[in-house]
Amino acid sequence: MKYLVVVGDGMADYPIKELGGKTPLQVANTPNMDEVAARGVSGTLKTIPEEMGAGSDVANLSILGYDPRKYYTGRGPLEAASIGVKMGSKDIAFRCNLITEKDGKLADYCADHISTEEAKKLIDTLNESYSEIGEFYAGVSYRHLFLLREADEDLICTPPHDVIGGTISDHLIKPRDNPIAEKLNDMILDSKNILSKHPINIEREEKGKNPANMIWLWGQGKRPQMETLFQKYGVKGAIVSAVDLIKGIGVYAGMSVINVPGATGYYDTNYEGKADYALKALEDHDYVYVHVEAIDEAAHAGDLEMKIKTIEDFDRRLLGRVLDKLEGEYKIAVLPDHFTPIKVRTHIKTPVPFSIYSSINEKDSVTEFNEIAAKSGRAGSLVGEEFMKLLLKKRP
Ligand SMILES: [Zn+2]
Repeated sequence: MKYLVVVGDGMADYPIKELGGKTPLQVANTPNMDEVAARGVSGTLKTIPEEMGAGSDVANLSILGYDPRKYYTGRGPLEAASIGVKMGSKDIAFRCNLITEKDGKLADYCADHISTEEAKKLIDTLNESYSEIGEFYAGVSYRHLFLLREADEDLICTPPHDVIGGTISDHLIKPRDNPIAEKLNDMILDSKNILSKHPINIEREEKGKNPANMIWLWGQGKRPQMETLFQKYGVKGAIVSAVDLIKGIGVYAGMSVINVPGATGYYDTNYEGKADYALKALEDHDYVYVHVEAIDEAAHAGDLEMKIKTIEDFDRRLLGRVLDKLEGEYKIAVLPDHFTPIKVRTHIKTPVPFSIYSSINEKDSVTEFNEIAAKSGRAGSLVGEEFMKLLLKKRP
């Protein structure tokens, strides 16, 4: 038996007035998701525990069958794994954003989406300046990594997108009297001196772009202690995603992380490529997880038309292509990781709809895939790891 899980990030939504009280999933033309629902069993899944933040990392851990309350330690360590940074058991990995500071306030959490090439040069300079404190690793655009070796401390950091327009000195790392927090806060503030006079930033300002004139550390954590997917569930897994966080989960879960050319995590992603690489991976893996970020991006942007378009692209160009070519005994599941309603433009903890089609098992009465239909599915309301257990069960 082969298993394929296809995740449309942030796909679920609320009924929308402009859509006649329907959700984007109800309105979008999605014959392939509907087919999975019509031929399989549906239900709802609580992917985000009440006490945790509604991050994609947390939600995807749940879908993969890892209770985030037990396994989630922060986004930093997941991103570290994704870019191949090895962490010791006492090391702390932070996400390091390149931000724009203006008049003591956090003006832009992403420095105008600085290019990867420009950012790399700034990260090199940071490494030269702060080698005594820790290690910087260049990532993509404004998203980088900072590693603190042998620092067993409980620090409180604030995500930069929650501080936009806020005073920087009010939102530095806490507790403020902790010596490590103090050292890191000094570095954050001092980075302004180093970065603002860097030629890259002088050039950006001349062009009217926001300079990447400060760093911001957050999302920190130690290395999670995860059993591999094979140890936990007895399946050999592969993961297809353009997003570092999701790929990092795959690394810790001992899955093959498959990079698809042209997979961007954005509207222009290579849907067909993802389908083809997933099918290829199924030849020598039991379980393949395919994640598409584009839909969530449209939802964060509050772009209803684009949300519907990316849902339709996901359905036709990825899922449809996979369904056309799948053969033998298999199960395929389709679901979002969480709600990202257009109206609120952020992640919401409401349980998500899912459908699982099995080539050998019976179906329920649900005939289409969306938030409302799934509630009457035979699988009922599942929580966290129960989804993976249902998927792998011989007879759901
Ligand atoms: Zn997500």
